[in-house]
Amino acid sequence: MTTILVDCCDVRVLIPDAKGTEQEYVASFPPCEDEFAVVLDRQDTGARHAVVKLGPASWRCSCGDSTYRHGRGRRSDCKHLVAARDLFQLFRAMSEQRKREV
Ligand SMILES: [Zn+2]
Repeated sequence: MTTILVDCCDVRVLIPDAKGTEQEYVASFPPCEDEFAVVLDRQDTGARHAVVKLGPASWRCSCGDSTYRHGRGRRSDCKHLVAARDLFQLFRAMSEQRKREV
């Protein structure tokens, strides 16, 4: 499960590691020509991973885990990709809510 903390423009994501311990990442959103992109910076190790939404059901993460698992279906998506999909769904829900309020 992904925990998403939003404080104005500061978005942090808690992603459980292989042992189930939540690790904190700062999420940033670079301009991109694809539908959605997020860069996740892990706070304790400094590791950086970029996740891009390429199409309706097509996501790609820059981590080795994702490259290795690529092509083996959604169940084997890496943890960064799962978190990015959760972020995307949250942002989409927020923008649809805003549209209804206007
Ligand atoms: Zn990944």
